[in-house]
Order: sequence, then C-alpha cells, then structure tokens
Amino acid sequence: LILRPYGIVIAGRLELGLELVVGGGKVEEIRPHTGIPENYVISAGFVNAHSHLEYRGLQGRLPLGSYWTWIRELTRLKQEQSDDEVRQDCLQAARENAASGVLLIGEHSDRPFAAEALVQAGIGGVVFQELITFFERESPREKIAVVEKKAGEQRATGLPVHLTPHALYTVDEATLCAFGGSGQPISVHLAETEHETAFAESGQGVIAEFQQSHGFDVQPRGMTAFALASELGLVREGAQLVHCCDLREEEIGPLAASGATVAHCPRSNLALNTPRAPIREMLDAGVRVGLGLDSPASSGVIDMFDEMRAALLIAEERARPIRPEEVWLMATGMGAAAIPGLAQSWDVAVGFESANLIAISVPAAHTVEDLIRNASPHSVSRLRDPQSLEAFTKQG
Ligand SMILES: [Zn+2]
Repeated sequence: LILRPYGIVIAGRLELGLELVVGGGKVEEIRPHTGIPENYVISAGFVNAHSHLEYRGLQGRLPLGSYWTWIRELTRLKQEQSDDEVRQDCLQAARENAASGVLLIGEHSDRPFAAEALVQAGIGGVVFQELITFFERESPREKIAVVEKKAGEQRATGLPVHLTPHALYTVDEATLCAFGGSGQPISVHLAETEHETAFAESGQGVIAEFQQSHGFDVQPRGMTAFALASELGLVREGAQLVHCCDLREEEIGPLAASGATVAHCPRSNLALNTPRAPIREMLDAGVRVGLGLDSPASSGVIDMFDEMRAALLIAEERARPIRPEEVWLMATGMGAAAIPGLAQSWDVAVGFESANLIAISVPAAHTVEDLIRNASPHSVSRLRDPQSLEAFTKQG
C-alpha cells in the first residue's frame, strides 16, 4: 500500500514531498512522491502524557481561576458520582482522545475504569493508580491494599498499571520514601502551585491550613516542593513529574540530571492560574517534556491542537518561546519518552507500526505551525484499522 500525503511530520518537522510504503502493519519505506499527492499530512499519533479520563463528567462544572477552590469542589462532586457514571465518563473521554488523534496516554486513575475505556477506544499507554493516604479512614498500609485491588482490576485489561503517589501533600512521607526508592514507574503531581512550596518550606498557606483543620500536625521542612521531592527520592529515572510550574531556576539542572521526565499541561495551568512552567529552560537543559491534556474538568474540551496552541502561548507570555516543532515533539515522540514504563520509540520511520499513524486533513500547510494553528480534532483520521488505511490509499 502506498500512502501519498503531501507531507509527513518527522522529528517534529513537516517534510513536504514524501510518501510512505506500508506493508505487514509497518512502514516499509519513506520516499519522494511517485504520484500526485493528496490533501492530508501524516504524523505519528498524538501522545497525551498526563490524563484523568474519569473527570470528563465534571467538564464545565467547576469554578476555574484558583487551583485550591477548584480541587476542593472537585473532591466534593466526586463523592456524588456513581460507578456507572464514572465508567461512562471514562469511555467518553477515551473516545474523544481517540477522535483528537491521541493513540497513547499516561493515565492517572483514582477509580478503576480508565483501562477498559482505553482498550475499547483503541488507545495504548500506562495507567497510574493514584494513592492518597491522608484524610482516609484506612491506615496507609490498608489504603495501599485498597488501591492495589483497583490496580489489579485495571491490569486485567492487559495494560500496564502502576501504583503512584498522587502528590507530596496527600501522601505520608514514609510512603513517599518507599516510592522514591522502589525504582518502579511513577507519576506524581509536583509544584503545580506556589501553595506546595509554602507548605513544604514554612508549613503555611492553604494546604497547611487545610491539613491542620483535619487534625494533622504540619511540620515546616524548610525547602521547596521540588527539593522535598528530591530528598524523598521521587526525582529520579522512571519518575514523571506532573506540572512543575513553580520551579526555581537553580532546580532545572538537577531535574535534568536526575532523568525524571515532566508532563506539561498548559491549558489546565492557564485555567487554574498556576505559575507558568519554565518549559524553555527545561528543554534547553535536556529534560524530556510531554504534553498532557490533564483533566477535562480543568483543561476543557479534549483537543490536542488547542493544547499545543496553549503551550506556545504560555511560552510566548514568558518571553521564553518554544518552537512549534518542539511542541509537536512534546505531543508525540518526546511525550512517549516522558511516560515512564513505556519503552517505545514514537516517530514516523521505517519499522514504525502503521496503526500508530494519523492523517490530518489541513490543506496547504507549509510547517507544523500551520497545522497547529489550523487543525482541530475534526481534521484527524486514525489509520489504525485496515479499512481506513485502504480508504486513504484509494482516495484520488
Ligand atoms: Zn493531574
């Protein structure tokens, strides 16, 4: 089969004038056009490096503008949801990801329904089963057993599932330390807001006040959230740090040296008015950064193009711009590298699985910036099933 797009995105750059020969489920050859090209481009499918499918039902229902107000209301509304609703929400969100061209996800789950939704929607990836040990009826040890059971249910789908600490301020230090030393894949929310550093550094601010009001003894640790996470061993190879908005300049070198990766969720950060993540600096230091659609309850409509536009916007606002080609990599190959436990190279190349290709119907794009500015989920087709692959090869 010959796929004859007018361009192929390779290593984040739109290369014009190339076609693909596909056979045995793989890309066999990339070569100059041998016929008249058609009106679409080919890319590796998108990678959503950080996602919460289960909050799809809360999209548009939470107050935005302040992280703390938002998370309190999210926690309250979650209690009202039935398992059936959450299962449906996961499936809807997984289908919308697929429609947006997402083929791989780093998924955070509290409830146990995301993995089956991913499988049904034809999306691969890794599920991180969130552990919270504060504000629970159970002791940490009992809570781990509860979460391990949910992880086991998800593992039955065949997707890899790893227990993961939710955040520094929702899990006790002994448990965090155990995750730090385990060497296992983890994905932990870190330094999303300045509240985390106020909590770690001086034992003050909304997080500390909330814990104290629930009878917890809050001890100032005299260090930033990033420094505390490092001390607990959480900043390491095999760890994905989600957000990293409130990082200090001098923390970026150690972050890069650690081998930890970052998930950047720009629309969520804009909606909740967090500090703007220093992505330019991270990329310059060699940190692997993936783009995450996070939760529809903060980011809004599931749309990787809109997420890429937001990544460009935040970096421009900081006067530390990132290039559209870098953003495309964050949404594809570098995004895959930023999901721990996923040893998969992810770019259009000889040997790449044709099922992992997407076609984007945007006429007359010259660069990936044109694609990012002009495309929407409606522009995307997946080449996952043989019929649609054949349909593309027969067009024109
Ligand atoms: Zn998250």
